[in-house]
Amino acid sequence: MVSIETLSRDELQNEADKLKDLYSALKAKNFTLDLTRGKPSPEQLDLAGELLSLPGPDYRDGKGTDCRNYGGLDGLPELRAIFAELLGMPVSNLLAGNNASLEIMHDTIAFQLLTGNPDSVRPWSAEPGIKFLCPSPGYDRHFAICEHYGIEMVPVPMLADGPDMDVVTEFVNDPQVKGLWAVPIYSNPTGAVFSEEVTQQLASMPTGAPDFRIYWDNAYAVHPLTERDAPVYDILGMASEAGFPNRPLIFASTSKITFAGAGVSFFGGSDENIAWYKNSLGKASIGPDKINQLRHLRFFKDASGVRAHMARHRAILAPKFQAVLDILDERLSESKVATWTEPEGGYFISLDVMDGTAKRTIQLAKEAGIALTAAGSAFPYGRDPNDRNIRLAPSFPSMDDLRAAMDGVATCVLLAAAEKKLSESPEA
Ligand code: PMP
Repeated sequence: MVSIETLSRDELQNEADKLKDLYSALKAKNFTLDLTRGKPSPEQLDLAGELLSLPGPDYRDGKGTDCRNYGGLDGLPELRAIFAELLGMPVSNLLAGNNASLEIMHDTIAFQLLTGNPDSVRPWSAEPGIKFLCPSPGYDRHFAICEHYGIEMVPVPMLADGPDMDVVTEFVNDPQVKGLWAVPIYSNPTGAVFSEEVTQQLASMPTGAPDFRIYWDNAYAVHPLTERDAPVYDILGMASEAGFPNRPLIFASTSKITFAGAGVSFFGGSDENIAWYKNSLGKASIGPDKINQLRHLRFFKDASGVRAHMARHRAILAPKFQAVLDILDERLSESKVATWTEPEGGYFISLDVMDGTAKRTIQLAKEAGIALTAAGSAFPYGRDPNDRNIRLAPSFPSMDDLRAAMDGVATCVLLAAAEKKLSESPEA
């Protein structure tokens, strides 16, 4: 289809009729396809299959710690050293935990609501009301934590090099704004990589709240889809230099490296934040699953072992991303009804369809047996102000399923756009 804007009403009607036929043919295929969550495929999980037979009979780490027993709240030093190197930060400022970094994000918010952080004058829950800045589109589970605890979310447009800093600086003087969500490398879902300048600004900007925290969720730090790794900026060092050492709380995990359900999470921050976190965590746990940490240590061996492993993921993932981009290009570029990101890493492609048609597109896809992430889910409160964003997750389906699903999605995007245009165009 040529640019939809240039079509007369008759031509539009003609296109819509053709698209309806295509859509009927799509429905007749009785698909059950799923492009919703960014899960690794079984083939990717198999890459770490050796973990299932590790650590073997030797249950001591290099320091002689018996990993079967209680203790060691910090996590195994040798595994922390590997990820400290990858995240460009000191080992003493990085802890290794259990299987979910999201749990640590949740818990640190709960701790701050209950007791505040080292810079708070009172618990966050005792404040008249608190807010988080939410670069959007963003990660729905971040926003779900805020919504669950009644933290007001302030949307901030997400640009190609990070959040719109004009908007961030406008809002961050408000003392009620206690935090900002950030996925600095291959952001979920746009794939944006924060620039050094944006990182520096975030680390050094004045804030209204003295106990303001940046949730620096580096979930995709080592997940490039090309041969080039994204630069990992030292936000901890930058914030410390700017006089705000406690501002960043850093998160990472091996969920998209080894096993999504049985990986190792990491939590990083200033000395004071680490002591603060351990003080609360120590009431809930005597120590993390060190056997899992030990098997990860034996599996990776060192930081280059992690990078080599990520190259094996890339070999599986990059062709899937390319297939999605090729289909989007073939089916949607001429009609100019959509734009999409071309990420250099991470797990998602963010598709913007014609304004006001995301919900309808997703509904059409659902009726044709193709599950897409719910409309608006990448926005605070599930509200996409333009009803245009759709998050695509290419990792899990097989290549054949992925191609079939994307071709179907393209038909739905076009049909929803044609319907909308027709409804707006005056009868001849
Ligand atoms: N952060 C982001 C940005 C993610 O996309 C995901 C997984 N989809 C997570 C965190 C979850 O991490 P974990 O498995 O360590 O809880």
